[in-house]
Order: sequence, then structure tokens, then C-alpha cells
Amino acid sequence: MTRTSTEANALPRRASENLARANAPLEKVALESYVALAQPSLIGLSRAELTDKLAGIGVPPAQRKMRVQQLWHWMYVRGVQDFDAMTTISKEMRAELASHFTVARPEVVAEQISNDGTRKWLLRLPSGLAGEKAHEVECVYIPETDRGTLCVSSQVGCTLNCSFCHTGTQRLVRNLTASEIVGQIMVARDRLGDWVSSGAAPQGEGTRRLVSNIVMMGMGEPLYNFDAVRDALLIVADGDGIGISKRRITLSTSGVVPNIARTGAEIGVSLAISLHAVRDELRDELVPLNRKYPIAELLQACRDYPGASNARRITFEYVMLKGVNDSLDDAKLLVKLLKGIPAKINLIPFNPWPGSVYECSDWEQIEKFSEYVFNAGYSSPVRTPRGRDILAACGQLKSETEKLSARERQALRAMAMTD
Ligand code: SAH
Ligand code: SF4
Repeated sequence: MTRTSTEANALPRRASENLARANAPLEKVALESYVALAQPSLIGLSRAELTDKLAGIGVPPAQRKMRVQQLWHWMYVRGVQDFDAMTTISKEMRAELASHFTVARPEVVAEQISNDGTRKWLLRLPSGLAGEKAHEVECVYIPETDRGTLCVSSQVGCTLNCSFCHTGTQRLVRNLTASEIVGQIMVARDRLGDWVSSGAAPQGEGTRRLVSNIVMMGMGEPLYNFDAVRDALLIVADGDGIGISKRRITLSTSGVVPNIARTGAEIGVSLAISLHAVRDELRDELVPLNRKYPIAELLQACRDYPGASNARRITFEYVMLKGVNDSLDDAKLLVKLLKGIPAKINLIPFNPWPGSVYECSDWEQIEKFSEYVFNAGYSSPVRTPRGRDILAACGQLKSETEKLSARERQALRAMAMTD
């Protein structure tokens, strides 16, 4: 069954309704405790914010636009870590900038490199309070033959207690700043040597980049940190910023319905939905946010998501839990539910953690499930329903600096969401 764009647009959508939804108040949780640094990093500031900062240190109005352009180039194209390396900026100006600001990224406290090239970094973020344990997040790089995907975190911990997710059990929760989100990509590119060197031609379309794709599938619910995630992703997608196209950026949400339309209107990246169950009763248990935004509302938000088309499908993540959500009846209902939505389905082998009450479905069952959705048309030509190619999303990242297990690697590799 191949979905056509007519089907995709089967539900009439009034522009005014969409606009109203996109203008609806942003749903937030009380996590506005960003930590201010004594000497702020310029990473992650929009052009307008950076202009204000420059104004604040007395840069004359006529120079500000040019300075912003220079700074963006040195920070995001060249990846320099020091104002001194910004040789197109006068020495006096560099000293002035260095006395007020930094271009610091989050501190790397541990790095692990697996045989298959997967790399995991544990990053330390300031906690703000004296004596409080430092805040930590993880960031993972998954190289593939045709792409390199970076899995980025949006929060320390998560307020949504999905019953199969380790992140949700963490007590400490805070939002990351836009700087800390963009900073994860900067760290990855630093460690991979993925910057344009001084003599090299600028990177354009077609130039091989090690970090070519971004998935917001690390710790946290990105749509409960909307403003910072938006500001960060707009810098990541900007041609003068990190320069990764919006098609290569995927934001995964457990279903904060009112903020999905805002994502379409204000960020415009690819969308992934953590569905995991096809009946409200079960989804209420697995993803408790479902009690607030049930499946029908969530799927309607997907139908309305601007830009969703056959060429740009919405990814539905589905974690395979033995005897819980992995029956053929579930697969059938899944296919039925997604009818009319340009969709891809990522089956994620459940990644157990100490104390988790679930088990991963048997491989045979994953294959059967996968075969059913494959035969229903939810696959791309190069993908086969065999185990090797069952696609999975990131899985949860753990806060301990333990080595990536084989299962974690399998889930992460599949997370690269190869078409
Ligand atoms: N909060 C967002 C994004 C981070 S989680 C969301 O829920 O979508 C990224 C993906 O990993 C989600 O699909 C999530 O459901 C899945 N995941 C979480 N814990 C997992 C586990 N133990 N095994 C496999 N996948 C898991
Ligand atoms: Fe939070 Fe996503 Fe984990 Fe649910 S699956 S607890 S939304 S990180």
C-alpha cells in the first residue's frame, strides 16, 4: 500500500484553524530555572540576541551586523574555541569580547568509542547551586555509511514518567539552554574533527560531513523546552550557522499536542512521535501524557503537521515490549490508525535497565510485527523486514558512564533512521 499525497490531505484543513493552533499558548512545565554563567558563551544566541550583546559592550551600531556574521562564521563554520583564533576580527575587539564572553561548550567528562564507531559523550553542565551535584547529559554519535547521526538531549532528566524509560526515573530535571543544545553538536564536531580547516574550501551541499543528521532523541522531552529547542535548531539549520538542513533534523516527542503545531510553524524540522501503543488504555500506562492528549488528538496533530508528505514522512516510534504491545493485532491496529498519515514506523527493541518491569519482545515476534507493517507499505524500498534492518530509534540514554551494551548499540544504530 503506497500512500498518496491525496490521501495524506484527505482531511480538509483550514488555514485559519492551523494558524490558530500555531498561535495557541505554548504548553510549558515549570522548569524555567536556566543557569546563568558568570561569563556567558556566545554559542546558541540568535543573531538578534548576539547583536544585543555586542551593543551591550559598546560595539557601534554600524559594525554590529558584520561582527555577528564574523562571529557566526568562526563559531559555527570554523569551530574555533577561542576569540584569539578569530583572525578577521581586530586584536582589540577580540580582547574586548574575551573579557566579557566565551565560546565555551559543555564540558566533556567522559568519552566512549565503540568498535563500530559509535561514540558516547557524558557532558557536565553547571548546576548553579553551590554543593549541588553537577548536571549531566549524554550525547551519542552513530556513524553509518551514508550519514552520521547525533542524538542530542534537551533536558536533564524528564518530567514525563514513561514506564519503560530510564530517563523518566531521574529525579533531577532542568531544561537545557539553547547554548547547551547547540553546544552538544559543537562538542561532537570538536571530538570528530568535523570543522572546516583554515585552508579548506567552505563546506557546501555535497560535502561529506561527519555529523550530517540530528535527532532530538536523547534525554528529555524537547517540546517541554520549546523555546530553547527552537532557538537551537534554527541555528543548527541556518546555512550560516551549523548548516544541517531541516530535513536532516528530527524532533521526537511523546505527544505534547499543543506544541506540535508550533513545531511545524516555528521550527519546521522532521517530526517523530513516540507512539508505542495503539489503544488509549495501554498508552495511558506506557506514556502517561496520553491521559492528557489521547491517541486521536495526537494523530490529528500529525495529520495537520505542515510539510508532512510522502517525501517527508512522520516517524512513529514503537518500542517492542514482550507480551505488552507486540501482538499482530497491535500491528494491524497500528496500520489502521496511521492510514492517511504519511508515516514511517521505527520498531525499537526495548533496552532494559535495572529495575525496569518490561522485557524486549522476542526477535521472532519483532520480525513478524515488522513483516506485517512492511507488507502494509510502511517501508522504503531498500529496507527489508529482516531483523538487521528493523529500524529503531535512539532508546534511552543512561546517565551513568557505562559502556554501550550490544543492545544499546543496536537500538542506536537503527536510530540513524536510514531510509
Ligand atoms: N522524550 C522524547 C525524546 C526522547 S526519548 C520522546 O519520548 O519521544 C527517544 C526515544 O527513545 C523515544 O521514542 C522513547 O520512547 C524511546 N525510549 C525510551 N526508553 C527506551 C527504552 N528503554 N528502550 C527503547 N526505547 C526507549
Ligand atoms: Fe521523557 Fe521521552 Fe523518556 Fe517519556 S520516553 S520519560 S517523554 S524521555
